[in-house]
Amino acid sequence: MTMMRLPTGLLLATALLLCSAVSAQASDDLRFPAQVQQGSLVVGKVPAGSRVTYRDRNLRVSGYGTVVLGIGRDEAGPVRIDVRRPDGRQDTASIAITPRDWPVEHVNGVPPATVNPPPAIAERIRREQAQVTEARVRDDDRVDFGNGFIRPVEGRISGRFGRARSYNGQPGAPHSGMDIAAPTGTPVKAPAAGVITFARPDLYLTGGTVLLDHGHGISSNFLHLSRIDVKPGDRVQQGQVLGAVGATGRATGPHLHWGMNWFDVRIDPQLVLER
Ligand SMILES: [Zn+2]
Repeated sequence: MTMMRLPTGLLLATALLLCSAVSAQASDDLRFPAQVQQGSLVVGKVPAGSRVTYRDRNLRVSGYGTVVLGIGRDEAGPVRIDVRRPDGRQDTASIAITPRDWPVEHVNGVPPATVNPPPAIAERIRREQAQVTEARVRDDDRVDFGNGFIRPVEGRISGRFGRARSYNGQPGAPHSGMDIAAPTGTPVKAPAAGVITFARPDLYLTGGTVLLDHGHGISSNFLHLSRIDVKPGDRVQQGQVLGAVGATGRATGPHLHWGMNWFDVRIDPQLVLER
């Protein structure tokens, strides 16, 4: 046993030396930010044809080597992204995560039945949320997320992403998007191009609801709409009108709720606009 140990240790040390030499000389073909905030959209570059893994998920790599992932509100990091190049060489990119403050927002005056729904309504909410979740599983080979985002509606920001929320004094889930106050009927524009994956006028909590898929698992959702002008399968361009602002579902007044996801991870639209 003792005689076996030495050669094994030597082999391991040699392998480690080789690995670090390779990553030091070759990592300039991997481009990821060194640090991002919680709730960020991360766009990286790798050699085309690489295999990229993050948390057991194989990230889709575009023909130009673009990969994308979302950093959750509560992610502590550092996150590690494993890259295997087409020639077999491997590297790991590490991204540090800057924590943010999440003050509590108090939302009062919402209909009590939307805060403590009776069993039949709770079942309906579960069913509707499952349908929305299903629409976010897609991993389309489009890079519509890569051409920048514009605000879907102009107006005062009345609610920010990630804030802990209380509804009528009762603790609720953190706010999942950005609220923009605007009069009912104000046109809602596509912040970036994409494909409509969900459009329903009457969900219990979110009212008129539209999901727009920007490719690689990145999607936008638009809630509380008073009017919907698109249907699932529609291809839309940036700036195209999707519907109109409203106060349908659990809302205390007319506004657009704009949320963004990377698959089931919610990200902050404000950070995406600032990219
Ligand atoms: Zn909202």
